[in-house]
Amino acid sequence: MLNIEPDRISVAVGLVLDSRHRVLIGCRTVRDQYFGKWEFPGGKIQIGESVSDALKRELDEEIGILVISSTHFDSFNYDYPDRKVRLNFRLVERYSGEPNSLEQQDLRWVEINDLGRFDMLAPNFRIIEQLRKMKGRLRMAKSPFKRYSGFSLFRNALSNHRKWPRAWRDPEPRKSYDVIIIGAGGHGLATAYYLAKLHGVKNIAVLEKGWLGGGNTGRNTTIVRSNYMLDGNANFYEHSLKLWEGLSKDLNYNVMFSQRGVLNLAHSDSEMESFAIRGNAMRLNGIDAELLLPDQIRQMVPHLDCSQTTRYPIFGGLLQERGGTARHDAVAWGYARGADALGVDIIQNCEVSGIRVKNNRVVGVDTNRGSIDAPKVGLAVAGNSSRLAAMAGLKLPIESHVLQAMVTEPLKPIIHTVVTSGASHVYINQTDKGEVLFGGDLDLYNSYAQRGNLPRIEYVVQSVLTLFPCLRRVRLMRTWGGVMDMSMDGSPIIGKLPIDGMYLNGGWCYGGFKATPGSGWCFAHTIAHDEPHELNKALSLERFETGALLDEKGSGAFAFSH
Ligand SMILES: Cc1cc2nc3c(=O)[nH]c(=O)nc-3n(C[C@H](O)[C@H](O)[C@H](O)COP(=O)(O)OP(=O)(O)OC[C@H]3O[C@@H](n4cnc5c(N)ncnc54)[C@H](O)[C@@H]3O)c2cc1C
Repeated sequence: MLNIEPDRISVAVGLVLDSRHRVLIGCRTVRDQYFGKWEFPGGKIQIGESVSDALKRELDEEIGILVISSTHFDSFNYDYPDRKVRLNFRLVERYSGEPNSLEQQDLRWVEINDLGRFDMLAPNFRIIEQLRKMKGRLRMAKSPFKRYSGFSLFRNALSNHRKWPRAWRDPEPRKSYDVIIIGAGGHGLATAYYLAKLHGVKNIAVLEKGWLGGGNTGRNTTIVRSNYMLDGNANFYEHSLKLWEGLSKDLNYNVMFSQRGVLNLAHSDSEMESFAIRGNAMRLNGIDAELLLPDQIRQMVPHLDCSQTTRYPIFGGLLQERGGTARHDAVAWGYARGADALGVDIIQNCEVSGIRVKNNRVVGVDTNRGSIDAPKVGLAVAGNSSRLAAMAGLKLPIESHVLQAMVTEPLKPIIHTVVTSGASHVYINQTDKGEVLFGGDLDLYNSYAQRGNLPRIEYVVQSVLTLFPCLRRVRLMRTWGGVMDMSMDGSPIIGKLPIDGMYLNGGWCYGGFKATPGSGWCFAHTIAHDEPHELNKALSLERFETGALLDEKGSGAFAFSH
């Protein structure tokens, strides 16, 4: 807290230098006093805020960078004719993101010696003088990412790619953290990333019993879409899809997001009608949707059996063009690298075996690597949600089931979109490697095992061959299973648990991969603010008490039927 004269305004100002020792300045806009004058970025300190926190907030709002560390540079009073200010300059040492003009101000990187050519606001003269004297001794502000680029690829090729830095650290667990996320799947890692990046939470650990991305994140069929009918789901998944569209750039990591379209096939007139209703609802929510006739489908997927004699004749379909696929491992790795760069400790081989609660408030967790204290604990453990919640004495409306998937040997590209069929319940796409990847229904018994049964594989293969008879002589290369967190209405839960400081991200059923960015984004908000964001309000646990369920299919409270 600052102690200055009551009529003096305190201001935090950032000196951001790049690798060429140029400093960042901005020009005041028509909306500002002293329009046309140049200055270093920053703004007013709010009551109760420290200088460094104010600088962090201001630079985030003004130029979209997240300050990770800054040091004091200079402070002094200055009296304008109409107001008195206290200026607190800090040298930004580490930040993430690229400076962007978020308030329509002109931004420039300027050589320190050239600052004099700009019509700078008077109080900055003293700083310019100091910068000139210190030039050469000043450390540039480091972005924590060792950015991947064409140039870094070329440079590392010269050393046979042996000198790439590690993408994330392997830290020992500390005694305590501000926030612990259990589960280093896509959701847990995305949550930690957005907590650090958007909410400035510094002291975060993600605890993973195995290796990161080794759960459902690395086992799914990678389909991404937002073709939901109910508002509570549609707006959330659409937000997620929008995040996907900028994810590779945001993470500086190619998640191979491919908007190749998701086509749901209709096999009867009544199914076409229900698709028309869903498509209209999607469009009303601003989500792209197109109803297709059989001829259009034939053209789009020429290898699909569109004959009238097939077991499930095709009456049409609903296409979401912006849907598609992404590389699942890359999503986990990209978020892990991003979170690590922001200071998050990702601790693998660290199994949570107990959750400590005192007076209905969480105080920490027990793990195979010792006890760790934290006032906030978030569960992002997918199929293990009920097990973890039980450690805190809670029972969830979630059942765990096995879901299998499989791939064929690689083929030349023949399926250019994602094809799904509700009649036989299969979803098929072709990976960038050429393998045809597909999955179907649950194995239909409760299990925590990451492997499934043979009859289900046979059934899924039959269904795929009904749609694509041309695949009948192709060899199946691998099958695997994942533990699904099936909720009772088929929709996820992102919200608070009835124990203070405990939060749940679970109940993803078949569809959590596509939700990864949106889920992490909303869960981070919920944990940081101790209340849900507007986008995940409808996804609360309380809906199972109030009856405000989100049952897209209207199939009732049976976990296996979603
Ligand atoms: C075969 C299959 C196909 C799928 N297809 C799709 C699809 O096409 N599209 C789609 O959107 N979704 C799909 N899904 C669903 C999707 O994969 C999941 O909903 C999503 O990946 C869940 O991510 P997560 O991060 O919550 O879970 P996970 O990736 O499972 O991460 C949870 C982590 O928690 C860890 N953990 C558990 N218990 C503990 C403990 N006690 N201590 C520490 N760590 C613990 C686990 O080891 C795991 O790594 C599919 C799932 C499967 C299995």
